[in-house]
Amino acid sequence: MNIHEYQAKELLAKFGAPVPAGHAAMSVEEAVEAAKKLPGPLWVVKAQIHAGGRGKGHFKELPEGSKGGVRLAKSLEEVEAHSKDMLGNTLVTVQTGEEGKEVQRLYITDGVDIDSEFYLAMLVDRATGRIAIVASPEGGMDIEQVAHDTPEKVHTFTIDPATGLMPHHGRSVAAALGLTGSLAKQAAKVTTALYKAFLGTDASQIEINPLAVSGDDLLVLDAKVGFDGNAMFRHPDIAELRDLTEEDPMEVEASKYDLAYIKLDGDIGCMVNGAGLAMATMDIIKLNGAFPANFLDVGGGASKEKVTAAFKIILSDPAVKGILVNIFGGIMRCDTIAEGIVAAAKEVDLDVPLVVRLEGTNVKQGKDILANSGLPIIAADDLGDAARKIVAEVKQPA
Ligand code: ADP
Ligand code: MG
Repeated sequence: MNIHEYQAKELLAKFGAPVPAGHAAMSVEEAVEAAKKLPGPLWVVKAQIHAGGRGKGHFKELPEGSKGGVRLAKSLEEVEAHSKDMLGNTLVTVQTGEEGKEVQRLYITDGVDIDSEFYLAMLVDRATGRIAIVASPEGGMDIEQVAHDTPEKVHTFTIDPATGLMPHHGRSVAAALGLTGSLAKQAAKVTTALYKAFLGTDASQIEINPLAVSGDDLLVLDAKVGFDGNAMFRHPDIAELRDLTEEDPMEVEASKYDLAYIKLDGDIGCMVNGAGLAMATMDIIKLNGAFPANFLDVGGGASKEKVTAAFKIILSDPAVKGILVNIFGGIMRCDTIAEGIVAAAKEVDLDVPLVVRLEGTNVKQGKDILANSGLPIIAADDLGDAARKIVAEVKQPA
């Protein structure tokens, strides 16, 4: 789960990170009010979307050459003008893809004079099974690009979970950033704050880009924080920060029914129980020369309601030209699943070919229910047969 920059900064500030003052705004009026609460005379108007690269991005609705989603303002009039330019418009950045993201929230923050910009992040390093700190003196840029072009400028340290963060980690970060004296001490303090925040919120990633030197101060100017979705039940206050408008609407709908759904680019909708079977189903569709429209795992306890919801979600994707249901009746019996499929197919008036492969407990009764349903359901015997049948249906000239 991801949150906006302003939410991330409020959270990190609570753990002691040095964040310039700022306020979120949902309208142009609120943006001007927010600016009035700050000292000025320099403000920054920042578009809040769940994607980076905003500064170098562009708005679809504005003429070419217009400024991006992070703009300096030297007066309240400029704050107002920038806010009008951004709110309701679509910001395209290297991370949003061509379709971009509509800006619905702004963050108005103190503008600071930047002397230098650094990169500092914490994430879970799967290879070592530890929290890793990534630090680079090349801040304000795309870190993947820095790692690719000048890998020696990206420094990584891991934290032993038995000892936790140690003073030497802070010193290593300061050295990696080339900081000395008071700034080095501040770098160690920021590192401690990030570590506390990381553990305290079950974060999966905290990225500060840039961490900036402004005069005698080290400041967090941009923050991106992601959390372990499976741990959010422990943090209801953080779970509330979720902004559903930033997520794929079909994936949001699926999460309501506890369905694991990911939209893909192909035209064959898949409904499967179990992640392994879902992966195998996608593979075999590809083997037969077509592409899956989604990954969808209805889980072990697939009820009629779940199956119906899954059908609706698959069919709401206009790219879907056929559906392959591949279910193994283990805990769930095949006859129950068949009843669910028939009820769901009737309820959503299915208008694309449907191939069903059932296997497992009560498979005979299940197949009978499908055969006697009066619906044009194509039965399949095994995974290979099912994939061949649905691909043949979808590829048929209309
Ligand atoms: P993004 O990474 O999405 O482009 P950032 O918040 O990193 O957005 O902003 C882009 C650039 O704008 C930063 O690298 C920094 O140079 C500048 N910037 C961001 N916040 C401030 C601020 N409060 N004061 C001055 N400059 C800023
Ligand atoms: Mg940034």
